[in-house]
Amino acid sequence: MNIILLGPPGAGKGTQARILVDSRNMVQLSTGDMLREAKSTGSEMGKKVAEVMAGGGLVTDDIVIGLIREKLACAAGNGFIFDGFPRTESQANALDKLLEKFNTSISAMIALEVSDEILINRLLERGKGSGRADDSNRKIIENRINEYYTKTAILKTYYQRKNCYYGVDGVGGIEEITSRIVDVMSKL
Ligand code: ADP
Repeated sequence: MNIILLGPPGAGKGTQARILVDSRNMVQLSTGDMLREAKSTGSEMGKKVAEVMAGGGLVTDDIVIGLIREKLACAAGNGFIFDGFPRTESQANALDKLLEKFNTSISAMIALEVSDEILINRLLERGKGSGRADDSNRKIIENRINEYYTKTAILKTYYQRKNCYYGVDGVGGIEEITSRIVDVMSKL
């Protein structure tokens, strides 16, 4: 089973993905984590990535797809959870093609629905503890949310057309939200 967790920044994708990894032995592929790792190496690509992330924009499709391709080739487990990927229609197309090569496909896109006001508060709160610069500034957070609505939200239609889109209420306790996700997965 391969799942995409969709949702604006702060929707809880990473939190829920980690729980599914532990409870169902799935493999989490988070492009945010991969990009932060690339950034920390100080390579030329890392420097480019750092600049884009600092402003809250989206890193180019080429870079992100390249990272996913590398990880997919060497990962093994009970299915993938994509967290923060795809974020554009061209990333979604690339993912379909990559999975085809492994004779598999996306089972479901599960979208966590949370209002903007709650998102902004959650991110500012996370920024206090994590030190993530992109979580500490309201303007950057608003830019990330805007990127989500202008470039990523259209993926709802993309996966609806494939009959595998499921919206889930992303407000509530962490365990409560996990059980909503598991509910969807159990019906697949
Ligand atoms: P969040 O979902 O809370 O914004 P992430 O860790 O998923 O956090 O992403 C942090 C940043 O990394 C994004 O603002 C963006 O700059 C970059 N990024 C992550 N995934 C992608 C992607 N699939 N395509 C382009 N940029 C990405």
